[in-house]
Amino acid sequence: MTLDTSDFTFDPKIAYFSMEIGLENDLPTYSGGLGVLAGDTLKSCADLNLPVVAISLLYNKGYFRQEIDSEGKQKEHPVEWDPHSKLKLLPHKILVKEIQGREVYVRGWLYKYKGVQGHEIPVIFLDTNLEENQEEDRHLTDSLYGGEEEYRLKQEIIIGIGGVRFLRALGFKNLHTFHLNEGHSSLLTLELLRENQRTVYETWDEDTIWDFELVKNHCVFTTHTPVAAGHDVFSYELVEKVLKIDIPLKTIKQCAGDKNLNMTTLGLNLSRFANGVALMHGNVSRSMFPNHQIDYITNGIHTITWAQDSFKELFNKYIKYWEQDPKYLRQAEMIPCDEVWQAHMESKQALMKEVSASTPVNMDPEIFTIGFARRSATYKRSTLMFNDLDRLIKIAENCPGIQLVYSGKAHPRDTDGKMNIQRIHEFQKKIEQKTDKLKLVYMPNYNMDLGFLITGGVDLWVNTPIRPHEASGTSGMKAALNGVLNLSILDGWWVEGCIEGVTGWAIGDLDPHHEMDLEQLAAHDSDHLYTALEKKVLPLYYDNRKEWIEMQRHSISINASFFNTQRQMEQYICKAYFLG
Ligand SMILES: *Cc1c(COP(=O)(O)O)cnc(C)c1O
Repeated sequence: MTLDTSDFTFDPKIAYFSMEIGLENDLPTYSGGLGVLAGDTLKSCADLNLPVVAISLLYNKGYFRQEIDSEGKQKEHPVEWDPHSKLKLLPHKILVKEIQGREVYVRGWLYKYKGVQGHEIPVIFLDTNLEENQEEDRHLTDSLYGGEEEYRLKQEIIIGIGGVRFLRALGFKNLHTFHLNEGHSSLLTLELLRENQRTVYETWDEDTIWDFELVKNHCVFTTHTPVAAGHDVFSYELVEKVLKIDIPLKTIKQCAGDKNLNMTTLGLNLSRFANGVALMHGNVSRSMFPNHQIDYITNGIHTITWAQDSFKELFNKYIKYWEQDPKYLRQAEMIPCDEVWQAHMESKQALMKEVSASTPVNMDPEIFTIGFARRSATYKRSTLMFNDLDRLIKIAENCPGIQLVYSGKAHPRDTDGKMNIQRIHEFQKKIEQKTDKLKLVYMPNYNMDLGFLITGGVDLWVNTPIRPHEASGTSGMKAALNGVLNLSILDGWWVEGCIEGVTGWAIGDLDPHHEMDLEQLAAHDSDHLYTALEKKVLPLYYDNRKEWIEMQRHSISINASFFNTQRQMEQYICKAYFLG
């Protein structure tokens, strides 16, 4: 099949593979930070006119829509959406026979994102919901991170092997780099090995018919997970059952590990460049995989996507070139303080309006407000704020008041993550009985739209991960861009972004605290959190507003000018994509 030239206006050189991509709220192909990062990355590729095409999966039922009952119990519902409303179905169809030897046809849906200079990045979502497929296979691309291990492995065959094959079907001839955004797509390396298999007649040696060096020269790998359990690992028993590929198991083991198929090991072994997603995460990744060279490139956010309307107006007025190059946000120091405050209050009012509309709680824009919204994964410790509830209440009663806006989904099988949502609802009930100086609301169904409202509409953004489990984190960057100050554990990007008392504040210090168990660590970290609120943050907010607004400007000029996906992509070009 030939290319429709109106669909693809340039010849891509880089193919970006990601299991989830979050481009807009109503395109439910993302679950959290990894997907939103991928979407923001591609938007900056468009702004920079880069020759990139992206591959992901279409999720006919999305991740899930979250409902929370009155006791705080999460219920998951399939997302109802029509791919035709957002995407264009491509005429191409490819065949994947590697799933248990069955014939699985795969089609692709096209999304195009137009950058500031008009360059459009094509994003292709692969889909197996075709009549010619067996019923079981039609559901392979139903839900993101749904099902058991076997389902996951099959999805990873579709994205990795099917993805390369789909790009070939589109006729792209000049792809020199396959960028694996996390290990989910590592099986693409096997497809590249298979494509470049040499015959024994060529090599005179059975061991060299697999051209590892050639594949390596074509691949770039980004790891996002500083916890071993977070890496995809499949038993060879399952691999032998599911993956029917013309590559001997012996060869796969050589690349992906002896004991299990480790998707990170596979990606690292067959890539010319690998990186972690923040300075500290690079160090952690090197200690996890000591036999590999792992560089780092700190994540960012797409500035145009995450700037509130009120701040866009200010930037347009004072920083003309900010959309083309967010590095110019350094000039935010010039924006008059009263206009910064005015813009901030507009976003805050928008959030409070949504709180009143969608929950029984009413909040006051004049009261100091803290935001905490992200996936309810246990390492993020969403309940740390309530570790000593009486102390928190006392702090709130000693000032004009504190409002807390929480949100976040737990993975459907993460019982601890779900339990934390429930516990926050219990804290809410306790607080209601004890004081009216502290207010807490949990907004259901966290997604990109809510993320936008909350990261821009509070005064303070808090992040409390167990170090060093936050590889980077990006929600705090969204806050920083909109003059919302950060108070966080020194982990991920905040190690680089925190200038104490200038761009925000740290909770605790960089000491590793290996001697503490989780409970002791929570007591230690929450003590630092309360002290910072009591001694530094609240006095500044309520008694020295001028200084507070100065910090808002520093947050924009120092952090938003750096922690964006445009700077990130410029580093990927230099460190990862440039071929010499
Ligand atoms: C930005 C964003 C995230 C990432 O948040 P972290 O706090 O960095 O984990 C997750 N989910 C959504 C919907 C986002 O917009």
